[in-house]
Amino acid sequence: MSSIFAGLAQPDVIARYEPVIGLEVHVQLATATKIFCSCPTSFGAPPNTNVCPVCLGLPGALPVLSRHSVELAVKAALALNCAIRPKSRFARKNYFYPDLPKGYQISQYDEPLAEHGWVEIAVEGAVKRIGITRVHMEDDAGKSIHDGFRDSDRYSYVDLNRCGTPLIEIVTEPDIRSSEEAYAFLTELKQVLQFIDVSTCDMEKGHLRCDANVSVRRWNAERFGTKAEVKNLNSFRFLKQALDYEIARQVAVVEGGGAVEQETRLFNPDTGETAGMRSKEHAHDYRYFPEPDLVPLRISERWLGEIRAALPELPARKRERFLRDYGLREYDVQVLTATHAVAEYFEKVAAVSGDPRASANWVIGDLMGLLKAAGKEIADSPVSAENLGELLALIARGEISGKLAKEILPKMFASGEPAAGIIEREGLRQISDSGALEKIVDQVLAASPKQVEQFRSGKTAVLGYLVGQVMKATRGQANPAAVNELFKQKLS
Ligand code: ADP
Ligand code: ZN
Ligand code: MG
Repeated sequence: MSSIFAGLAQPDVIARYEPVIGLEVHVQLATATKIFCSCPTSFGAPPNTNVCPVCLGLPGALPVLSRHSVELAVKAALALNCAIRPKSRFARKNYFYPDLPKGYQISQYDEPLAEHGWVEIAVEGAVKRIGITRVHMEDDAGKSIHDGFRDSDRYSYVDLNRCGTPLIEIVTEPDIRSSEEAYAFLTELKQVLQFIDVSTCDMEKGHLRCDANVSVRRWNAERFGTKAEVKNLNSFRFLKQALDYEIARQVAVVEGGGAVEQETRLFNPDTGETAGMRSKEHAHDYRYFPEPDLVPLRISERWLGEIRAALPELPARKRERFLRDYGLREYDVQVLTATHAVAEYFEKVAAVSGDPRASANWVIGDLMGLLKAAGKEIADSPVSAENLGELLALIARGEISGKLAKEILPKMFASGEPAAGIIEREGLRQISDSGALEKIVDQVLAASPKQVEQFRSGKTAVLGYLVGQVMKATRGQANPAAVNELFKQKLS
């Protein structure tokens, strides 16, 4: 933490304290329609067009819970190792804000969908479990727009398209002990939720929003300190920056003999600071009460079983398996399990080629390079996993050299064709036939008396030159191993 901020403790002082952090993460579920009505959830529609009496909160309109929302919420809760309540209940959380026309948010309170889960993160080489207190469902509010209009100095505008968008809120236990751990947790959470297609977790679109509760205490202190809640952390970088700032601020307060106030603070990305916003409402201010318009949510054993069975292998398990079964390097595993699509692609390439390590190298190096240059995702790769696998199988069988394959892949990428077609058309097949090679080897030997003499006098390094001559004569199509072998036979 730099010292340009006033009122911040220096690192040596901060080191005498232990930060305690709990996160509250809101995630937009990837449904096409809203949680209690059939309005679309599409992003970027003209303001106030994706609305109906239900999400506008018009009198008499009744909510109907979307099955798909529940399914995604349950999927998320299972992936976060939570216990799902067979019966949960919606509650009204009352507050007044222009972007909430109902006057209350429909959320869950004392009977949330799921509890007692955990997520594992890697901390300095060891695995650490972060407890998940609860996962509950709720609807989103609209958006107030305070600037960008000619009369923004006098008026605010409101766009209610987002009202009723399905969210889950994920609350962690106060198990996180540094900004790095918070960062690692959010990274893992995002990856899991993306893997199971519960959410795009696009932070720029607000599909993943994170609030952080922070306190500090002296090492060995028995009790937690008073926490502040920091809001407006809409990127991973901001989360880390805000936590580092807030930890240094709280330590300075305590060191100065003061007391940390329980309050909500807003992170300002322009200054990197947090500032007090309002003293934190206590739960009773929301006057929570059971939502009378919705029956309790019941999740049958059978439905739960179906959702569980349909869950894909989660990132942590996949990483373990890739390390163990394919013998890949840690870094390669990270890259190849970053998304479900990449992992699937890689596994298909490995299966077809029969060579997992070469597959890892080609996917991470050559293919991803081409994708990046073309601004494409792996899901729209012009080279299918089967085609890349077959290209690598050709190398493994000695039908083409690796060098030639590097020239063929961009052609496959440009045309979408399999390797075989390109090789056939351009006459690129590797020459392994020893009769054909022998003729060329003899020609090279006849034309290189000096090198032959050097080789015979013990300078075996000239073999590289001789092989190179054959490769040149065959435009790289000779099988280098076979050529090497032939030279050795002829020169011994
Ligand atoms: P509140 O009553 O203010 O909602 P909760 O106990 O429900 O507080 O916790 C809300 C969030 O704050 C959780 O993520 C929890 O892990 C975290 N939290 C609770 N106490 C502390 C603390 N002393 N320091 C840091 N985080 C905390
Ligand atoms: Zn609606
Ligand atoms: Mg609480």
